[in-house]
Amino acid sequence: MKVYISADIEGITGIVHDDQTFGTSNEYALGRKLMTNDVNSAIEGALKAGADEIYVKDAHGNGRNILLNELKKEAFLIAGWDIMSSMVQGIDETFDALILIGYHSKIGTENGILAHTMTGCIKQLSINNNPIGEPELSALTAGYYNVPTVFIAGDQTAVKELSAFINDIPHVITKYGMGINTGKLIHPDLTKEAISEGVSKALSNLSKFKPFKISPPLNMSLKLSLPKMADLISLVPNVKRVDIDEVSYLADDVLSMLKMFRVMLGLAWSLR
Ligand SMILES: [Zn+2]
Repeated sequence: MKVYISADIEGITGIVHDDQTFGTSNEYALGRKLMTNDVNSAIEGALKAGADEIYVKDAHGNGRNILLNELKKEAFLIAGWDIMSSMVQGIDETFDALILIGYHSKIGTENGILAHTMTGCIKQLSINNNPIGEPELSALTAGYYNVPTVFIAGDQTAVKELSAFINDIPHVITKYGMGINTGKLIHPDLTKEAISEGVSKALSNLSKFKPFKISPPLNMSLKLSLPKMADLISLVPNVKRVDIDEVSYLADDVLSMLKMFRVMLGLAWSLR
Protein backbone atom coordinates (compact mmCIF):
# COMPACT_ATOMS: atom_id res chain seq x y z
CA MET A 1 0.00 0.00 0.00
CA LYS A 2 1.35 3.39 -1.07
CA VAL A 3 0.16 6.35 1.02
CA TYR A 4 0.43 10.12 0.50
CA ILE A 5 0.31 12.40 3.56
CA SER A 6 -0.14 16.14 2.89
CA ALA A 7 0.59 18.30 5.93
CA ASP A 8 -0.25 21.95 6.56
CA ILE A 9 0.44 23.71 9.88
CA GLU A 10 -2.57 25.86 10.82
CA GLY A 11 -4.73 22.85 11.71
CA ILE A 12 -2.01 21.12 13.73
CA THR A 13 -2.55 20.30 17.42
CA GLY A 14 -1.91 23.37 19.58
CA ILE A 15 -1.49 26.00 16.82
CA VAL A 16 -3.58 29.21 17.11
CA HIS A 17 -1.35 32.05 15.89
CA ASP A 18 0.99 32.96 13.01
CA ASP A 19 3.86 33.35 15.51
CA GLN A 20 3.72 29.55 15.69
CA THR A 21 3.70 29.02 11.91
CA PHE A 22 6.76 30.93 10.65
CA GLY A 23 9.57 33.23 11.76
CA THR A 24 12.50 32.85 14.10
CA SER A 25 10.82 32.66 17.50
CA ASN A 26 10.76 29.77 19.96
CA GLU A 27 7.03 29.60 19.30
CA TYR A 28 7.70 28.67 15.65
CA ALA A 29 10.30 26.13 16.77
CA LEU A 30 7.58 24.53 18.90
CA GLY A 31 5.11 24.75 15.97
CA ARG A 32 7.51 22.76 13.78
CA LYS A 33 7.79 20.12 16.47
CA LEU A 34 4.02 19.88 16.92
CA MET A 35 3.60 19.56 13.13
CA THR A 36 6.22 16.80 12.97
CA ASN A 37 4.46 15.01 15.84
CA ASP A 38 1.01 15.00 14.16
CA VAL A 39 2.60 13.75 10.91
CA ASN A 40 4.46 11.02 12.81
CA SER A 41 1.18 9.86 14.32
CA ALA A 42 -0.28 9.53 10.81
CA ILE A 43 2.80 7.59 9.64
CA GLU A 44 2.44 5.29 12.65
CA GLY A 45 -1.19 4.62 11.74
CA ALA A 46 -0.29 3.97 8.10
CA LEU A 47 2.41 1.49 9.12
CA LYS A 48 -0.02 -0.29 11.44
CA ALA A 49 -2.43 -0.69 8.49
CA GLY A 50 0.32 -2.22 6.36
CA ALA A 51 1.58 0.70 4.26
CA ASP A 52 4.91 -0.11 2.70
CA GLU A 53 5.54 3.17 0.89
CA ILE A 54 4.76 6.53 2.54
CA TYR A 55 5.35 10.04 1.18
CA VAL A 56 4.89 13.18 3.27
CA LYS A 57 4.50 16.61 1.62
CA ASP A 58 5.44 19.61 3.75
CA ALA A 59 2.68 21.85 2.37
CA HIS A 60 3.02 24.98 4.49
CA GLY A 61 4.83 28.26 3.76
CA ASN A 62 8.27 27.55 2.31
CA GLY A 63 7.72 23.79 2.59
CA ARG A 64 10.53 23.46 5.12
CA ASN A 65 8.78 23.14 8.47
CA ILE A 66 8.79 19.42 9.25
CA LEU A 67 11.90 18.34 11.19
CA LEU A 68 13.45 15.62 9.03
CA ASN A 69 15.62 14.29 11.85
CA GLU A 70 12.53 13.79 14.03
CA LEU A 71 10.35 12.35 11.25
CA LYS A 72 9.73 8.59 11.28
CA LYS A 73 12.30 7.04 9.00
CA GLU A 74 9.78 4.89 7.13
CA ALA A 75 8.49 7.96 5.21
CA PHE A 76 10.03 10.04 2.44
CA LEU A 77 9.68 13.82 2.91
CA ILE A 78 8.84 16.08 -0.05
CA ALA A 79 10.14 19.47 1.10
CA GLY A 80 10.33 22.96 -0.44
CA TRP A 81 8.24 24.66 -3.15
CA ASP A 82 8.54 25.26 -6.85
CA ILE A 83 6.30 27.32 -9.11
CA MET A 84 4.13 24.31 -10.10
CA SER A 85 4.15 22.66 -6.67
CA SER A 86 0.82 21.91 -5.07
CA MET A 87 -0.04 20.75 -1.57
CA VAL A 88 -0.01 17.23 -3.04
CA GLN A 89 3.09 17.63 -5.20
CA GLY A 90 3.97 14.43 -7.07
CA ILE A 91 0.74 12.56 -6.34
CA ASP A 92 -0.27 10.18 -9.15
CA GLU A 93 -2.22 6.99 -9.96
CA THR A 94 0.30 4.80 -8.14
CA PHE A 95 -0.94 5.99 -4.71
CA ASP A 96 -3.70 4.17 -2.82
CA ALA A 97 -4.81 6.94 -0.46
CA LEU A 98 -4.43 10.59 0.55
CA ILE A 99 -4.31 11.65 4.22
CA LEU A 100 -4.68 15.33 5.19
CA ILE A 101 -2.94 16.45 8.40
CA GLY A 102 -3.04 19.94 9.98
CA TYR A 103 -5.51 21.33 7.45
CA HIS A 104 -7.56 24.49 8.20
CA SER A 105 -10.84 25.97 6.96
CA LYS A 106 -11.22 28.35 4.04
CA ILE A 107 -10.99 32.14 4.13
CA GLY A 108 -13.86 33.78 6.01
CA THR A 109 -14.99 30.73 8.01
CA GLU A 110 -16.48 31.68 11.37
CA ASN A 111 -14.41 30.33 14.29
CA GLY A 112 -11.85 28.81 11.91
CA ILE A 113 -8.38 29.00 13.48
CA LEU A 114 -6.08 30.82 10.99
CA ALA A 115 -8.73 30.30 8.28
CA HIS A 116 -7.44 31.25 4.83
CA THR A 117 -7.18 29.96 1.27
CA MET A 118 -3.64 29.64 -0.09
CA THR A 119 -2.31 33.23 0.00
CA GLY A 120 -3.68 36.47 1.46
CA CYS A 121 -4.65 37.52 -2.10
CA ILE A 122 -7.76 35.29 -2.19
CA LYS A 123 -11.10 36.42 -0.76
CA GLN A 124 -12.97 33.40 -2.13
CA LEU A 125 -12.34 30.42 -4.38
CA SER A 126 -15.36 28.63 -5.87
CA ILE A 127 -15.99 25.77 -8.22
CA ASN A 128 -19.42 25.71 -9.90
CA ASN A 129 -20.59 28.28 -7.33
CA ASN A 130 -19.49 26.20 -4.31
CA PRO A 131 -16.84 27.96 -2.21
CA ILE A 132 -13.96 25.59 -1.43
CA GLY A 133 -10.74 25.67 0.58
CA GLU A 134 -7.43 23.85 0.70
CA PRO A 135 -8.72 20.43 1.91
CA GLU A 136 -11.14 20.24 -1.04
CA LEU A 137 -8.48 21.42 -3.48
CA SER A 138 -6.05 18.69 -2.38
CA ALA A 139 -8.80 16.05 -2.39
CA LEU A 140 -9.86 17.11 -5.89
CA THR A 141 -6.28 16.92 -7.18
CA ALA A 142 -5.89 13.42 -5.74
CA GLY A 143 -9.27 12.49 -7.21
CA TYR A 144 -8.04 13.44 -10.69
CA TYR A 145 -5.52 10.59 -10.30
CA ASN A 146 -8.22 8.30 -8.86
CA VAL A 147 -6.71 8.48 -5.37
CA PRO A 148 -9.34 8.65 -2.58
CA THR A 149 -8.97 11.05 0.36
CA VAL A 150 -9.56 8.89 3.42
CA PHE A 151 -8.74 10.99 6.49
CA ILE A 152 -8.42 14.58 7.72
CA ALA A 153 -7.02 16.04 10.95
CA GLY A 154 -7.66 19.72 11.66
CA ASP A 155 -9.88 22.02 13.71
CA GLN A 156 -13.64 21.38 13.80
CA THR A 157 -14.31 23.90 11.01
CA ALA A 158 -11.91 22.26 8.54
CA VAL A 159 -13.42 18.84 9.25
CA LYS A 160 -16.95 20.22 8.80
CA GLU A 161 -16.11 21.86 5.48
CA LEU A 162 -14.54 18.75 3.92
CA SER A 163 -17.36 16.57 5.30
CA ALA A 164 -19.82 18.63 3.24
CA PHE A 165 -18.08 17.32 0.10
CA ILE A 166 -16.91 13.87 1.28
CA ASN A 167 -19.64 12.28 3.37
CA ASP A 168 -18.48 10.65 6.62
CA ILE A 169 -14.79 11.24 5.98
CA PRO A 170 -12.85 9.73 8.90
CA HIS A 171 -11.33 12.55 10.93
CA VAL A 172 -9.72 13.75 14.12
CA ILE A 173 -10.56 17.18 15.51
CA THR A 174 -7.22 18.48 16.79
CA LYS A 175 -8.74 21.57 18.52
CA TYR A 176 -11.93 23.63 18.62
CA GLY A 177 -11.65 27.06 17.00
CA MET A 178 -13.37 29.97 18.77
CA GLY A 179 -12.00 32.67 16.48
CA ILE A 180 -9.18 33.24 14.04
CA ASN A 181 -6.52 33.25 16.79
CA THR A 182 -8.19 31.45 19.64
CA GLY A 183 -9.61 28.06 20.49
CA LYS A 184 -10.00 25.22 22.95
CA LEU A 185 -6.88 23.06 22.67
CA ILE A 186 -6.43 19.33 23.16
CA HIS A 187 -3.27 17.79 24.64
CA PRO A 188 -0.86 16.34 22.03
CA ASP A 189 -0.81 12.94 23.79
CA LEU A 190 -4.54 12.61 23.05
CA THR A 191 -4.44 13.74 19.40
CA LYS A 192 -1.40 11.52 18.80
CA GLU A 193 -3.33 8.42 19.76
CA ALA A 194 -6.48 9.51 17.92
CA ILE A 195 -4.65 10.32 14.66
CA SER A 196 -2.68 7.09 14.67
CA GLU A 197 -5.81 5.02 15.34
CA GLY A 198 -7.97 6.99 12.89
CA VAL A 199 -5.47 6.69 10.02
CA SER A 200 -4.93 3.00 10.67
CA LYS A 201 -8.66 2.30 10.70
CA ALA A 202 -9.30 4.31 7.52
CA LEU A 203 -6.50 2.59 5.60
CA SER A 204 -7.73 -0.82 6.75
CA ASN A 205 -11.05 -0.12 5.01
CA LEU A 206 -9.74 1.31 1.74
CA SER A 207 -12.32 -0.41 -0.46
CA LYS A 208 -15.15 1.75 0.96
CA PHE A 209 -13.63 5.04 -0.28
CA LYS A 210 -14.17 6.65 -3.66
CA PRO A 211 -11.96 9.35 -5.22
CA PHE A 212 -13.39 12.87 -4.80
CA LYS A 213 -14.43 14.23 -8.19
CA ILE A 214 -16.56 17.07 -9.51
CA SER A 215 -17.85 16.35 -12.99
CA PRO A 216 -16.68 18.83 -15.65
CA PRO A 217 -17.06 21.48 -16.86
CA LEU A 218 -15.51 23.18 -13.85
CA ASN A 219 -16.27 26.85 -13.52
CA MET A 220 -13.59 28.20 -11.20
CA SER A 221 -14.09 31.69 -9.88
CA LEU A 222 -11.70 33.68 -7.79
CA LYS A 223 -12.42 36.81 -5.73
CA LEU A 224 -9.25 38.80 -5.11
CA SER A 225 -8.19 41.05 -2.27
CA LEU A 226 -7.45 43.96 -4.68
CA PRO A 227 -9.31 44.91 -7.90
CA LYS A 228 -5.99 45.50 -9.73
CA MET A 229 -5.26 41.78 -9.36
CA ALA A 230 -8.47 41.06 -11.29
CA ASP A 231 -7.42 43.72 -13.86
CA LEU A 232 -4.21 41.82 -14.56
CA ILE A 233 -5.60 38.26 -14.44
CA SER A 234 -8.45 39.13 -16.82
CA LEU A 235 -5.82 39.78 -19.54
CA VAL A 236 -5.10 36.03 -19.67
CA PRO A 237 -6.87 34.42 -22.68
CA ASN A 238 -10.16 32.67 -21.81
CA VAL A 239 -10.35 34.26 -18.36
CA LYS A 240 -13.61 36.14 -17.78
CA ARG A 241 -13.96 39.25 -15.64
CA VAL A 242 -17.13 38.76 -13.62
CA ASP A 243 -16.86 41.58 -11.10
CA ILE A 244 -14.57 44.40 -10.02
CA ASP A 245 -12.60 41.97 -7.84
CA GLU A 246 -13.55 38.63 -9.43
CA VAL A 247 -12.44 36.51 -12.39
CA SER A 248 -13.56 33.12 -13.65
CA TYR A 249 -12.28 30.34 -15.88
CA LEU A 250 -14.17 27.42 -17.41
CA ALA A 251 -12.06 24.24 -17.41
CA ASP A 252 -12.68 20.89 -19.09
CA ASP A 253 -10.76 18.97 -16.46
CA VAL A 254 -9.21 19.33 -13.01
CA LEU A 255 -5.64 19.50 -14.27
CA SER A 256 -6.21 22.50 -16.55
CA MET A 257 -8.17 24.18 -13.76
CA LEU A 258 -5.25 23.67 -11.35
CA LYS A 259 -2.76 25.03 -13.88
CA MET A 260 -4.83 28.18 -14.40
CA PHE A 261 -5.23 28.51 -10.64
CA ARG A 262 -1.42 28.58 -10.25
CA VAL A 263 -1.14 31.26 -12.95
CA MET A 264 -3.84 33.36 -11.24
CA LEU A 265 -2.18 32.99 -7.84
CA GLY A 266 1.19 34.01 -9.27
CA LEU A 267 -0.20 37.09 -11.04
CA ALA A 268 -2.15 38.17 -7.93
CA TRP A 269 0.93 37.70 -5.74
CA SER A 270 2.98 39.95 -8.03
CA LEU A 271 0.60 42.86 -7.23
CA ARG A 272 0.11 42.33 -3.50
ZN1 LIG B 1 -2.84 26.27 4.38
